[in-house]
Amino acid sequence: MNGDSRSIATVPDPSKKAPTVLVTGASSGIGLATARRFAAAGSRIIAAARRLERLQSLVDELGANCHAVELDVTDVSSATSITDKLPEAFRTIDLLVNSAGVALGDGPIQSAQWGDLQRTIQTNIMGLTAVTHAILPQMIARGAGDIVNIGSIAGSYPYPTGHVYGASKAFVHQFSLNLRADLAGSGVRVLCIEPGTTRTEFAAVRMGQDPERVQDFYGERRLLTPEDVAEVLFFAVGLPRHVNLNVIEMMPTDQAFSFFRFADQTPPDRS
Ligand code: NAP
Repeated sequence: MNGDSRSIATVPDPSKKAPTVLVTGASSGIGLATARRFAAAGSRIIAAARRLERLQSLVDELGANCHAVELDVTDVSSATSITDKLPEAFRTIDLLVNSAGVALGDGPIQSAQWGDLQRTIQTNIMGLTAVTHAILPQMIARGAGDIVNIGSIAGSYPYPTGHVYGASKAFVHQFSLNLRADLAGSGVRVLCIEPGTTRTEFAAVRMGQDPERVQDFYGERRLLTPEDVAEVLFFAVGLPRHVNLNVIEMMPTDQAFSFFRFADQTPPDRS
């Protein structure tokens, strides 16, 4: 992150400043595991999410190298001015991890509430774009930086009830690649990590905290853990700076693909 071939994740040169990592969605799941992983490697962490009390616990755990920022990424003016809320020592951001995300609107599209669909789009698309747009100029000015967007396998493979969530993750995938196109020669790297099912609070948020349904969904399956995703992210960003992994799709070994299905019933042909 210092302009040489050393990556953010390799053991930092003690004479150089610790890299600063901004993680959205740091109050839970993949974002939280990512914050912990980079903090363990000596990075300074800016932990952003809506639940400040959760972030405060993380600050208590990680110490003075972690700064908490209450941020709702759907509040676009807050998202685009995020650096204004940071103390001077945390304002130079070396790595942005866009992990904040939701999959609201349970069930098929026709029975989903409009507000849930809207919030999914606002969080996963608008919020991610706003934070990225706010941070990019300082990275470009320094000629170095990393952006890691958390996409999903749902962005590549359709499934019933995937509707706007899958579509929002398809946006994240293509946005990441288009960033690469615009940023060629800038020294800024962009990666989209697309995990399969990961055991986090994600399903509980989607299913309205119904513990039985969440238990049915996750079961005793051997899923990815948020730490698995954080470790892959840490590895990818740790590669020499002339190497850019564009997209990483990862799944639990026990998760795979299903065949196309036929509808069980169809209306009579009225043509
Ligand atoms: P999680 O445990 O529910 O964490 C989601 C995080 O997003 C929380 O920290 C939440 O914090 C934050 N968030 C939600 N809305 C926000 C908003 N408006 N502003 C700021 N922060 C917000 O779920 P997770 O699995 O770690 O999800 C992280 C990312 O991984 C998401 O982008 C998700 O789409 C992706 N992903 C998850 C899976 C999976 O199976 N779990 C698979 C593929 C991809 P607050 O509620 O405190 O704001």
